[in-house]
Amino acid sequence: MAAPRVAVVGGGLAGLAAAMELKDAGCRVELFERSRLLGGRASSFEMDGHVVDNGQHVYLACCTEFVRFVERAGMGDALHLQDRFDVVAYRKGGPGHPEPVEGRLRAANIPAPLHLLLSFASYKHLSFAGKLQIARALATLMLNPRSARDEMSFDVWLKRHGQGRETIRSFWEPFMVPALNAPLDRMNAAEAAFVISTAFLRDSHAARFGYSTVPLAGIMERAASRLDAVHRPSVVNSMQASPEGVVLRSGDEELRFDAVVLAVPPRALARLLGDPAAFGVPPLEGYEPFAIMDVHLWFEGPQLPFDFAAILESPVQWVFQKGPGYLCCSLSAADALVAKPTGDMVARAWEEILRALPGLAQARLLRGAATRVPEGTYLPAPGTVRPKAATSLANVTVAGAWTDTGWPDTMESAVRSGTAAANELMKGLNIERMRPEGPLAHV
Ligand SMILES: Cc1cc2nc3c(=O)[nH]c(=O)nc-3n(C[C@H](O)[C@H](O)[C@H](O)COP(=O)(O)OP(=O)(O)OC[C@H]3O[C@@H](n4cnc5c(N)ncnc54)[C@H](O)[C@@H]3O)c2cc1C
Repeated sequence: MAAPRVAVVGGGLAGLAAAMELKDAGCRVELFERSRLLGGRASSFEMDGHVVDNGQHVYLACCTEFVRFVERAGMGDALHLQDRFDVVAYRKGGPGHPEPVEGRLRAANIPAPLHLLLSFASYKHLSFAGKLQIARALATLMLNPRSARDEMSFDVWLKRHGQGRETIRSFWEPFMVPALNAPLDRMNAAEAAFVISTAFLRDSHAARFGYSTVPLAGIMERAASRLDAVHRPSVVNSMQASPEGVVLRSGDEELRFDAVVLAVPPRALARLLGDPAAFGVPPLEGYEPFAIMDVHLWFEGPQLPFDFAAILESPVQWVFQKGPGYLCCSLSAADALVAKPTGDMVARAWEEILRALPGLAQARLLRGAATRVPEGTYLPAPGTVRPKAATSLANVTVAGAWTDTGWPDTMESAVRSGTAAANELMKGLNIERMRPEGPLAHV
């Protein structure tokens, strides 16, 4: 029996994860990507002679499927992961305290949630009362996770659970706004609770930070190199599907496949399906995009004593030292800033850096640049039903970090969705039996 011909539309992480899975199961896989670059929202490009990611991406140790994806692509060595959760946070100097203040949270080698207790007790950015508030909130999330409901914003939950202004600004905002890329009053309390409990409350190793030491596009290219064909730039404009097969239209071409994975953002999926309800897919209008912006700074000055750090009460929530004299400043939920001129944002970010980071007083900014993704992540409005991988047609499945994976829109969610979409296709088409004996494709 000939290998089923499967198309994957969308060359982001979700599409690539689905494609890799299907390829390993013995399908003939062709990928269609609108852009010249692979990786979608997790990609890289050349800017002024430097290859930069379109935004700094981090993963946590609990993102096991993302790590597995990178390893299967043969790029496991490109991932760096902390030995233990260890984060330094700076409060900018200002009236009353001209020098920046450094605080640190570092996990001890004991079970969760006690692993952070010691460093939390000495964390400089919170008063004793603030620490008690946080301890009570974490205890509530452990004992009564259902108190954080879907239809409630996390901001409301925090206030209902006695979190004061200082606690919110010095703890919840710097950790949760970048984690979910939304202001606290817009993020879903249940999603916030999921992140906190997955990262901090169950396993003392789960919240270790990791990142790629090579440009993300390199990982995506390696993953795609195993496929039978990669069409790019190639927009799929429309699709016709029936149990017998799928016809994709891209430009003037009409291409026939046995099955398809649609791994595109919600609006693009709505266009391809035409009538989502006809495929058993819930309405796709309820997703709000939130912007992410990164400001890249090249400077002459000393090396800083960290790989990355948080800056409290600053639009630059996190700063990453990507190399000697190169800082990448990450600005989440940046909708109000994303349209500002690059020069203004570079000046603003550099000012924030100088006020927050001791040791850079004599440093000289050489150059700056900004990368912007207006649709950085998709947040479902309260009550929105996220689609599952399967549709009512066995040979059409959907994927995307924004679909119903149980995770917020992240790289982990993207990979999980792609794997789920591939598994659903294999189930629907009995593809599993095609799997060759012995080792699968090279890993
Ligand atoms: C700046 C930034 C920083 C981020 N930081 C983090 C982080 O630190 N940690 C983390 O876990 N996540 C982070 N994320 C989120 C993460 O990047 C996404 O959740 C994930 O990459 C989404 O993958 P995806 O495949 O679901 O979607 P996408 O990456 O959006 O992929 C969809 C692809 O479909 C293509 N496409 C659309 N329509 C068509 C069509 N008609 N035909 C062909 N192709 C089409 C698009 O071009 C795109 O490549 C960040 C996102 C951004 C933007």
